[in-house]
Amino acid sequence: MRILVQKFGGTSVANLECMLKVREKVLAALDKGYKVVVVLSAMSGETNRLIDMAKKWSSKPDPAEMDVLLATGEQTSVALFSMLLKDKGVKTRSLLGYQIPIQTDKSFGKARILDIDAEKLKHMLTRFDVLVAAGFQGCDCEQRITTLGRGGSDTSAVALAAALNAELCEIYTDVDGVYTTDPNICSKARKIHKIAYDEMLEMASMGAKVLQIRSVEFAKKYNVPVHVRSTFSDEPGTLVVQEDETMEAAMVSGIAYDKDQARITLVDVYDEPGIAATVFEPLAAANIVVDMIVQNPSREGRTDMTFTVPKGSLEETLDIIEKIKDQIGARGVLSDPNVAKVSVIGVGMRNHSGVAAIAFSALKNENINIMIISTSEIKISCLIEEKYTELAVRTLHEAFGLDQA
Ligand code: ASP
Ligand code: MG
Repeated sequence: MRILVQKFGGTSVANLECMLKVREKVLAALDKGYKVVVVLSAMSGETNRLIDMAKKWSSKPDPAEMDVLLATGEQTSVALFSMLLKDKGVKTRSLLGYQIPIQTDKSFGKARILDIDAEKLKHMLTRFDVLVAAGFQGCDCEQRITTLGRGGSDTSAVALAAALNAELCEIYTDVDGVYTTDPNICSKARKIHKIAYDEMLEMASMGAKVLQIRSVEFAKKYNVPVHVRSTFSDEPGTLVVQEDETMEAAMVSGIAYDKDQARITLVDVYDEPGIAATVFEPLAAANIVVDMIVQNPSREGRTDMTFTVPKGSLEETLDIIEKIKDQIGARGVLSDPNVAKVSVIGVGMRNHSGVAAIAFSALKNENINIMIISTSEIKISCLIEEKYTELAVRTLHEAFGLDQA
């Protein structure tokens, strides 16, 4: 049995006209001889509407009931779409998360998938040609409805594809793929035809708009090939797959940026064991996500420590630092919310030397100062003044030969 998973996002099921386009995609897959598992999101705007409604009803909506409420968005989509398929004589039925079942933990609003009954689904696929599954939802061990977090239908689709050993998981959306950088700030951005899971994860700042990050982690873990493409065209989109030689041949695959960064420097803290732990433990306990961290070489037993947090966490971070300032001997605390991170990403970096030098000299040519540099095997990130973000992205895009011809 050749199984294809096709997931359609909110803008693809927004109304009857869009759903008719979706039906064409599903019928085309049937023509190719596939059994199809269709995964649908709620109609665009619906999840937000339900959240706003809950907030009017209750000052603190019960998380479990919130999930019961939000799951209705996807329920509407699968019922309506199944009707459309039946009108064309397709053997199909809708499936809600608990009917499959997609078993999750009990974290309402951000549940993790634990298990999917693949045998039951495969058996159903002997009787039906298309199963229309509600994305974003599952159920816990007490049959209470759970949801997987915003954008969670992507993860539902990839998880179903993994469980069913599907040939491919197609994610249909309103953009035609993943680009070398944000096309809104760089008109020369190109569509990437094939990208490695790890690159996609690093492209988070732009990729997240296209795919829920957790779905990419899932795809990587179970090696599910994912094809991100547009519902409104027949052009191929971007394949997100395991790394291969063609990707390694390219030095760099894309340029990402993140404006949601704020910088904090602890001046002249003691350079002795336990200082970093004293700083970062309370931040972790407060659920503050620390991104870049640098510590300078020590001078006379003292050092500067610089790190970044999301802009929205800056105040809370400064409050926490204030409490431990004396304990770590800090002679000053500097902070700057007007910073951004630009990153050069590519698995090919592993085999090419000089990538960092190219990036730094490109920034130098534009007189952009680098405040922090951090690197991983497949990424070089620079913290810069926020107002230079667009310029830096365009400059790096050109420097690595990513510009569209
Ligand atoms: N409807 C949910 C949301 O808007 C899940 C999804 O669309 O993937 O976040
Ligand atoms: Mg989405």
